[in-house]
Amino acid sequence: MTEHSKPTKMAIAPRADNGAPPLISIVAPCYNESETVDLFVDAIDKIVAEADFETEIVFVDDGSRDDTRQRLSRLAAGHDNIRVIALSRNFGKEAALTAGVDHAKGDAVIVMDVDLQDPPELILDFVRKWRDGFDVVYAAREDRQSDTAAKRATASWFYRLFNRMSAIKIPENAGDYRLMDRRVVDHIKALPERSRFMKGLFAWVGFQSIGVPYVRPERAAGETKFNFWKLWNFAIDGFTSFSTAPLRVWTYFGGVVALLSIVYALFIVTRTLVMGIDVPGYASLLVFILFFGSIQMISVGILGEYIARLFAEVKRRPIYIVDDVLGGPKSDQAPGN
Ligand code: UDP
Ligand code: MG
Repeated sequence: MTEHSKPTKMAIAPRADNGAPPLISIVAPCYNESETVDLFVDAIDKIVAEADFETEIVFVDDGSRDDTRQRLSRLAAGHDNIRVIALSRNFGKEAALTAGVDHAKGDAVIVMDVDLQDPPELILDFVRKWRDGFDVVYAAREDRQSDTAAKRATASWFYRLFNRMSAIKIPENAGDYRLMDRRVVDHIKALPERSRFMKGLFAWVGFQSIGVPYVRPERAAGETKFNFWKLWNFAIDGFTSFSTAPLRVWTYFGGVVALLSIVYALFIVTRTLVMGIDVPGYASLLVFILFFGSIQMISVGILGEYIARLFAEVKRRPIYIVDDVLGGPKSDQAPGN
């Protein structure tokens, strides 16, 4: 997904149509979304009513503490094409997305938020582009007016820094909302890491992709589940999963400081030899000690971020645990891999 320009006609062949309508899975993670799940299903039903493809909705209840699960279970009972993967606790959006993608059966899988900030109308455009031969079709925000100025600024810094540090580029205007062909999904499912920075993983697998522009609306109901602290940790997960630059920068920084120190040492020694012992200098000494002490702590802290993630990876705990599967055959219930 590093290249977003329109591929040439040569590179892209329309998907073969073998007569049977394709199945499109819609994966939607839900955490305390009691107010939005019914609106979501109504909106999707309206959009796909006339469509020439089949759909299934795979809801993931990410350990909601309100009555989201009851509502989802009611929806699953009323619709043959709705399944609910209920996780045993809140595992976070990235793990919930992983669970949904693992359980989706479609020829193509669409991942979207349940709060209608990802407009369902785009599904038709996604499928059209998919039929044209694109493996990944993502929604590209035209503007971020629905976000606060602070969120817009921090998001923009994050993407700029990420794309500078990582060999994998993620488009600044793309969220998670996208359609992926089955073969892309299978590659994503095969990625073994526990730390699921999905935006990065989606980009990492590559394939022919294209953006569809849209304007991101406000949340239909309820409120955002992401506060500043969660977003900060999300950003660190992103950096550490896709770049080793934060680790390596200290080698160069140390090298430069060592060179400067040699020059300064020569200067001090020479001056002492020529002019005698110079006792004052308490202030500069203290500044140096504090400065290098804090720089060392920062670099050790960054080392710690990576070690903590290595630790999480080697433990190989499952990414999520399924408590119950509602709506589909019980045999679908699989432990998180
Ligand atoms: N979500 C989730 N688990 C979490 C947090 C969020 O499954 O721990 C879901 C949430 O229910 C929604 C989607 O992730 O469907 C996006 O969340 P939200 O709308 O709060 O994020 P924002 O749009 O504000 O970035
Ligand atoms: Mg939202």
